[in-house]
Amino acid sequence: MDRADKQQPVLIVGGSLVGLSAAMFLAWRGVPTILVEQHPGSSLHPRAIGYTLRTIELFRAVGLDVSAFSDKFMSATGGKLRRARVESLSGKWFEETLWTPEDSAKKENDTTEVEYSPCTSHGIAVAQDRLEPLLRDRAVQLGAELRLETELVSFEQDDEGVTASLRDRRRKSGEIYSLRASYMIAADGNRSSIREALGIERSGRGYIRTLGSVLFRASLDEYLASGVRQFDIDHPDGFKGFLTTYGDGRWVLMYSVAKDNTEKPDEATLKAMIEKAVGRSDLPIEIITTGQWEMNALIADRFSSGRVFLAGDAAHTLPPNRGGYGANTGIEDVHNLAWKLQAVLSGVSRPQLLDTYDAERRPIGWLRLRQIFARSDYKAHADSNNVETAVIEDIAMEIGQLYRSDAVLGAGEDLPSAMRPDQWKGQPGTRAPHLWISKKPSSEPISTLDLFQKGWVLLAGDEKWVSAASESSRQLGVDLACECIGTDFIPSSSTEKDLRENYGLTGQGGALLVRPDGYVAWRAVDLPSDPTDTLTAALGRVSHAKIHS
Ligand SMILES: Cc1cc2nc3c(=O)[nH]c(=O)nc-3n(C[C@H](O)[C@H](O)[C@H](O)COP(=O)(O)OP(=O)(O)OC[C@H]3O[C@@H](n4cnc5c(N)ncnc54)[C@H](O)[C@@H]3O)c2cc1C
Repeated sequence: MDRADKQQPVLIVGGSLVGLSAAMFLAWRGVPTILVEQHPGSSLHPRAIGYTLRTIELFRAVGLDVSAFSDKFMSATGGKLRRARVESLSGKWFEETLWTPEDSAKKENDTTEVEYSPCTSHGIAVAQDRLEPLLRDRAVQLGAELRLETELVSFEQDDEGVTASLRDRRRKSGEIYSLRASYMIAADGNRSSIREALGIERSGRGYIRTLGSVLFRASLDEYLASGVRQFDIDHPDGFKGFLTTYGDGRWVLMYSVAKDNTEKPDEATLKAMIEKAVGRSDLPIEIITTGQWEMNALIADRFSSGRVFLAGDAAHTLPPNRGGYGANTGIEDVHNLAWKLQAVLSGVSRPQLLDTYDAERRPIGWLRLRQIFARSDYKAHADSNNVETAVIEDIAMEIGQLYRSDAVLGAGEDLPSAMRPDQWKGQPGTRAPHLWISKKPSSEPISTLDLFQKGWVLLAGDEKWVSAASESSRQLGVDLACECIGTDFIPSSSTEKDLRENYGLTGQGGALLVRPDGYVAWRAVDLPSDPTDTLTAALGRVSHAKIHS
């Protein structure tokens, strides 16, 4: 029965957006990883299409550039995803509804995004079934092993690891074999059998409604010329639906279905609905597939249990919204987890570091859930827990959320959950801000983000930190690079004073400790009297270094 006697470091269950991202991030960090996915490939239903700035940054950091997927229709209108309420595509168009209506006035004139990041998410639209093969290829290129058509049947865990029973679905015999791993990531979706086996309950707004969907191909590009690509169908005869395109000739029409209705509409009924939404009956329509899904807003009560970690929809199921929180939140989950697993598996950090995954990511799930109901699309569905929530602007939601945990020092309870990077200014617990710099001796501009996301980095405002960093690193066994402002790099599009201000290094010779995921772990505004001791104490605590007493 045993195919692999050797204990593997990480087993990932689920090979959709989140599982594949986990495999890619772990493999990039050199962690041997096996991913199992029960299906042979991606779901026929593309689902996600919009990605946050943070997701694009995370992909960029591991060498996956999705900027080539700029959507010609969205690019033509400055990259905004626009939506209109219409009678039908060819019928009367009523009003346009903006991306995030509540801060649209600011966002419409906002040209500052490039300054927040070296990336842009504007205009990038990649259907999930087109993105997943890219993630698969990159994960394999980096050394991950993907086992498609392999199903997790059951698992057990003990103090040393997880034993998974896997079925190779390609074999008629249905052979089940076991695989032993130190840790398991459950990226097995909303209905996660792993979450259920662990007995982890979920809380939140819960069931919202059931939707039917039909994915079809038709020549409808002429209706995209104005840049609107999502249509709320509000037909005079009472038919309501949501019609959107994947920008490649494929369209999806979604419509409400009664809860627990299992009756599938026949092809003639589907075509009639599509024709009503389009307002024409003269076009050839090819139906690709149909689906039915429940819209839920639920967060798992724990994101981990022992050696098993929930990620993506298994951990939080969020209704599709115009901030694109669903898949993007999951991608950030596994980015948060990957460096922690690597640190623990390499023996540098104590396993307690892994407890910070739940501490950091579960509040983000809740923050995003509450934001969805604070915004107009879902306001009508808000329950008493959410009605008072103020809308947070998109840029703050995407790259300005705050982590509080034992892997951060100085993120107090009094701080807001999310703000723009220019408001945070290097606050511990937030993503270290982007600025253009030149790393000596090159004059080529790079982003400060390019200094981070590999290992620990001390961004130092005084050369005295250089020896402190190397001594702390030696004492704790934690790899720590020191990047000294003015000596190792200089700002290329701002002044040194701006750079220090953006990082909150406004005192005398302070320093900022950045984690391997690009988040600020700790900051000393001024140079302390004993930089080595101060840094060793801080790094020891936030990295959970084994050697740190
Ligand atoms: C209509 C629609 C539009 C959306 N648009 C967006 C968007 O624009 N932006 C966004 O961020 N999100 C969007 N989402 C949400 C997004 O699609 C999901 O959040 C995302 O797919 C979740 O990814 P996941 O990997 O966590 O789970 P899933 O995509 O559900 O994948 C789980 C995987 O695990 C596999 N699996 C399950 N059990 C086992 C097992 N026992 N053994 C092996 N494999 C197993 C499944 O086969 C599946 O491939 C949208 C969702 C919908 C429905």
